[in-house]
Amino acid sequence: MTKSIRCSDAGKDCKWSATSQTEEDLMSKVIEHVKEEHKEIEINSESISGIKSLIKDI
Ligand SMILES: [Zn+2]
Repeated sequence: MTKSIRCSDAGKDCKWSATSQTEEDLMSKVIEHVKEEHKEIEINSESISGIKSLIKDI
């Protein structure tokens, strides 16, 4: 199973997306992207659980 996430699903005007075999690896890619491109988003347990709810199995 491949895990996938798209920034646009979070309501961002952003074409970034990522896929990974594991949720842990996908989340580390997401956090890296958020720190680079969406500095207004604070990484905390609330935003992380919100991001995890956007992950799809493809
Ligand atoms: Zn983005």
